[in-house]
Amino acid sequence: MILSKLKEAWICIKAGRVTLPYPFAPAVPEEGFRGRITVDAEKCVGCGGCANVCTPRAIQVSDPSQEIRLLEFFLERCTYCARCEEVCPEKAVTCTKEFETATNDVQDLHLKVEVFMGTCQRCGRCFETSTELDKMMVTGFRNGKQPQAAEETA
Ligand code: SF4
Ligand code: SF4
Repeated sequence: MILSKLKEAWICIKAGRVTLPYPFAPAVPEEGFRGRITVDAEKCVGCGGCANVCTPRAIQVSDPSQEIRLLEFFLERCTYCARCEEVCPEKAVTCTKEFETATNDVQDLHLKVEVFMGTCQRCGRCFETSTELDKMMVTGFRNGKQPQAAEETA
């Protein structure tokens, strides 16, 4: 009994220090760590892809007016799965290395992004902003020409 305890103590002493000095010294997360998410409003095109994949429904999308799409992030619900970062076509969502998210005020965990949207002339609903359409022009689909298939069928 005593021998086994001594053996246990020896194993522990031999291993040396295995914990970080945090919180007395800053802890730097490893590469690929999924911390608090951040959103770049300049890059967001309001597609809603992030909200579609967010399992705990931490992201809500609404259209308060015809030209504005509102994205609300309720990060107190976030499970740090990073699916939103993975699917965002514009790389507007990124996971930071911030992990100290405890707060007394839940508002600290709320983000709002307003995206100005173009509206369809027929139905009046928002569609993706010029960023995506500009890209389509670069690839030749809307450069004043019809796609080849459409020309042939006209
Ligand atoms: S990291 Fe996951 S849970 Fe958090 S907002 Fe993104 S999709 Fe939702
Ligand atoms: S953050 Fe990315 S996925 Fe979410 S609405 Fe904006 S562009 Fe789409």
